Amino acid sequence: MEVLNEILNLIKQSNKIIVTGHIMPDGDCISSVLSLSIALEKVGKDVLPVIDYDIPYQYQELVEVQKIKKANDVIREINECDLIIILDSSSVDRIGKLKDFLENKKKIVIDHHVTNEKFGDVNWVGDFFSSTAQMIYRLNQALGVEYDSRLSTINLMGIATDTGFFRYPNTTSEVFKDAYELSKRGGEIWPIAQMILENNRPERLKLFANTIEKMEFLLDGKFVHSIIRYEDFKRFNCKEEDSSGFVGELRAIKGVEVAVLVVEYPKGKVHVSMRSKNEFDVSTIASELGGGGHPRAAGCTFDDADPDEIRKIVVNKISEALSIRG
Ligand code: 5GP
Ligand code: MN
Repeated sequence: MEVLNEILNLIKQSNKIIVTGHIMPDGDCISSVLSLSIALEKVGKDVLPVIDYDIPYQYQELVEVQKIKKANDVIREINECDLIIILDSSSVDRIGKLKDFLENKKKIVIDHHVTNEKFGDVNWVGDFFSSTAQMIYRLNQALGVEYDSRLSTINLMGIATDTGFFRYPNTTSEVFKDAYELSKRGGEIWPIAQMILENNRPERLKLFANTIEKMEFLLDGKFVHSIIRYEDFKRFNCKEEDSSGFVGELRAIKGVEVAVLVVEYPKGKVHVSMRSKNEFDVSTIASELGGGGHPRAAGCTFDDADPDEIRKIVVNKISEALSIRG
């Protein structure tokens, strides 16, 4: 594949490499950043993993996560690097302050979002892949990196989380093939599943109960939406990361086709998470509102906004599109 060769060449020519992912990092983002960083280290590169955001507490149980820095703590290293590799991020406003350092730098973008804006010198954007972690597995193989059990587990994590632990429609035979190979190399799914799925803080569950209480249903139960205001996070002693996964639970309700969760964190910053079950394309709606994502999981973000106003706008837009579809 030509683009893979271009990536290999750029990596060969570079020594100091920054590997980064998106703000509000998820399992795929963290897995991809770590798996590529470990691999590049194995082939002798000077690598620094950067994610310009707090890492959710569950993932901090991975010792490797301690190596990930925020942009402000490594300004000198960012200035001195020869190459920035940007993973799982569909646009520059997804990478935090690193966005201010992109000019005059060689950039590789690797992502599986259809909405990717291809802002790199080399862009490998494959919506055929379940996850960016799956693409990183392919890249690392092309780099000739030996997979030990630890790297296998870390790489498997991103494939698992972005396929909803092998449940979503993106769980293709290729996913099982890559997961099988990683498992053969010692990758373990259970410690990862336990760390992510069976690690709830009671405060988080109380926030979830409150989110469930505030649900509103439209269109005969096909559309559900709810909201978490900043005050709710404070009241239940939670942070934004605690709300991750809630929108998936809303979609999991019987009869629901589209689920929306409006989250305000911190005060005035509003993030909208959208999910659909079967046919409805939420990425189009998210893109129209300045965001992006996948057909069945997308989002958008607003600064200095009123969460209730945003909720109204999004709910109207989706209700209209859903009723036209019938
Ligand atoms: P989530 O709802 O879990 O935050 O995000 C779902 C999907 O939509 C993810 O694949 C994520 O990359 C994308 N997404 C979420 N928020 C934004 C946003 O503000 N801008 C863009 N471009 N994509 C987003
Ligand atoms: Mn992803």
